[in-house]
Amino acid sequence: MSVERPVFARCRSCSACAYLPRRFCAACGGTNLSAELLCGGAVVMAVTVVHRAPSAALQALAPYALCLVDADEGPRLMARCESDLLIGDRVTVAMSEFAGARVAHAVRAAETEPPNNAELR
Ligand SMILES: [Zn+2]
Repeated sequence: MSVERPVFARCRSCSACAYLPRRFCAACGGTNLSAELLCGGAVVMAVTVVHRAPSAALQALAPYALCLVDADEGPRLMARCESDLLIGDRVTVAMSEFAGARVAHAVRAAETEPPNNAELR
């Protein structure tokens, strides 16, 4: 099974990184950016549990947990996760299906890769 990693943008002028891919660099205004895959390594910066979701499809899965992680390459991104993650935990991020969309999914680095299906809430 191949693992699908999130894509981020790296500025070829100043090396700033951002998630998601974008047309210009927020740091220098440059327009020469490359789209690259994250290696998957990241550290948890925040965790929250969503009880009131923004759409009917997500509400059907509530409560579910989301986290903000700082990827090893630099960009901060939001990912779904287990609610027992703690700030500072080392995680691995991959894309997975959630409420009909491909979203970033963080699991503790010591655990196996996330499943390709939404069984975590
Ligand atoms: Zn730049």
